[in-house]
Amino acid sequence: MGPGEHLAILSRAVKMLFTLSRGYILCTIFKAVLSSASRYVPIYFSARLLDAILYGAPAGVVARYAGLTVGLGFLLNLLLTWVSVAGEVWEDRLYLERDWMFSEKGMGMEYSSTENHGVALLLSRIREESNSGYNLFFLYNSLAAGIGHVTSIVFSTSLLVSFFTLGGVGTTTKLGMVAGILTILVCGILCTAQENKINVEFFHKNVNVNIMTGKYRRLAGDYSAGMEIRLYGMEKKIVSGRAEAEMEFYHNCMERNKKGVRFLVPGIVLTHLLKFCLYLVLIAAALSGAVSVGSIAKYVACIMLLLEAVSGLVSASQRLCSNNYYLKRFFSYFDIPNDMYQGSLTVEKRLDNEYYVEFVDVSFRYPGAGSYALRHVNLRFRVGEKLAVVGMNGSGKTTFIKLLCRLYDPTEGEILLNGVDIRKYDYDEYMSIFSVVFQDFSLFSFTLGQNVAAAKEYDEERAVTALRRAGFGERLDAMPEGTETYLYKDYSAQGVEVSGGEAQKIAIARALYKDAPFIVLDEPTAALDPVSEYEVYSKFNELSGEHTAIYISHRLASCRFCDNIVVFDAGQIVQHGSHEALLAQECGKYHELWDAQAQYYVSA
Ligand code: ADP
Repeated sequence: MGPGEHLAILSRAVKMLFTLSRGYILCTIFKAVLSSASRYVPIYFSARLLDAILYGAPAGVVARYAGLTVGLGFLLNLLLTWVSVAGEVWEDRLYLERDWMFSEKGMGMEYSSTENHGVALLLSRIREESNSGYNLFFLYNSLAAGIGHVTSIVFSTSLLVSFFTLGGVGTTTKLGMVAGILTILVCGILCTAQENKINVEFFHKNVNVNIMTGKYRRLAGDYSAGMEIRLYGMEKKIVSGRAEAEMEFYHNCMERNKKGVRFLVPGIVLTHLLKFCLYLVLIAAALSGAVSVGSIAKYVACIMLLLEAVSGLVSASQRLCSNNYYLKRFFSYFDIPNDMYQGSLTVEKRLDNEYYVEFVDVSFRYPGAGSYALRHVNLRFRVGEKLAVVGMNGSGKTTFIKLLCRLYDPTEGEILLNGVDIRKYDYDEYMSIFSVVFQDFSLFSFTLGQNVAAAKEYDEERAVTALRRAGFGERLDAMPEGTETYLYKDYSAQGVEVSGGEAQKIAIARALYKDAPFIVLDEPTAALDPVSEYEVYSKFNELSGEHTAIYISHRLASCRFCDNIVVFDAGQIVQHGSHEALLAQECGKYHELWDAQAQYYVSA
């Protein structure tokens, strides 16, 4: 990474920090300056106080210096405490803002990106790297530390000016002191560079270890996996997996500490050597009267603080550069584009409900997949029509719906809504015309009403109507809190567990509540037997009224009430027509599947 890139990343990160919390960054900087200043007040005034006592100054002067030493120290400490407390409040807010920033990005991401393994890996890496030390917030501390060190350098050098102008200390001695300071600084820079390298290596090694530990930790606490874990005796595997990962972390720590310790020793030895020489020079100067006794401690402390500040500054800048590699990855997550949002056309609101959708030679391959999931699909249907999509598992039915709802864009061909490519429509508006109940639908651990409305605020009457229409009425009446009842126990101890069948009714109620022109049922009934599935589908057909309803099933009998049935096979539409017409084609796929499944619906 070149200096230009380092600077660009730094400036982007600083801007982001300011946007996240201006208050916190200002508090942190102010705190760094104050705490650095608070170290010099006692050094300066106690030297004055000591000299005043030793050299027989009037009692008033002694009292003034004593007052200033204690009083200023007290004031600075009071201010520091206030800034620290304010900083903690801002810090909590900052973490919230950071979490929202991640959530917003995750929610606004294309569906294909959320499914992408590389993106998932990138996100867990960023999370784990944050836990390992390198992150956006590391920058706050480094910047604040840097500002604190600069403040110390300014204070130290201004207090040391008088040392270098002292008449009683020879020029060679002074030059010797400067040489000593420089040697320690160079040694510090080299050692910190090595230490930094060891730390980067350590953080790098631990990313995967942390990801693994986190996964095991979550698995152990995941109550939805609790039954399988107990029934199949997986406890040992989970505990030993976690222990293995944690031991690896422990070994990495040991190795880092062993390697790092030798780079700490030279700095300590040289600093103490310089301190010793400095005391000798200053005591000799004090004995000859060239320097006051009070100044001995002042000069020694200032030189030590100067050394600490300069090496701190160097180390902070080295760590900032290492952190930039992390920040680069961090920003690459936020830079993942969302091409879905490029369209701007509004979806025409037609009173006559005359919408039609057309697939024109559509082919699709999942990102990273070797073969096509859909091949040359051509189909046209109107709003108000009932369409059934049937075919064996894996034949491409769900993929067809994902493309229709723009969860993915076709690899080849186009999908038209009223003759316009759906990519040209505003994405949110286009999405709003679909209600889909997927096979693996999700319910959230929020209230029943919020699940039905898929929103925080909901219209209770509408939610209750949708739930009753979906066949959830009786269960709803048995719930003491009605639509305010929480599902599951994640957010409420009174949360209720719902069965697979009940969950499916809630998911259907969600589709009814949305009241979108297109309603899709993608085998959300997988838990039901074929006869019950048929009942749900034909009941839903009555409920869907004027809307376009698309039914997907690998069970042909469930969709036989539809006049418009398309048959998928290996990603292609192989037949299209009514149940009777398709069954009449004895060599067709529909006939073959019907025969194979006949045993299920003899009584249906
Ligand atoms: P159906 O709904 O008819 O059971 P799908 O549309 O789910 O079939 O799947 C069609 C093909 O696409 C299958 O071969 C399946 O393995 C593949 N497929 C489905 N989802 C993904 C995915 N996210 N990534 C890669 N391949 C997928």
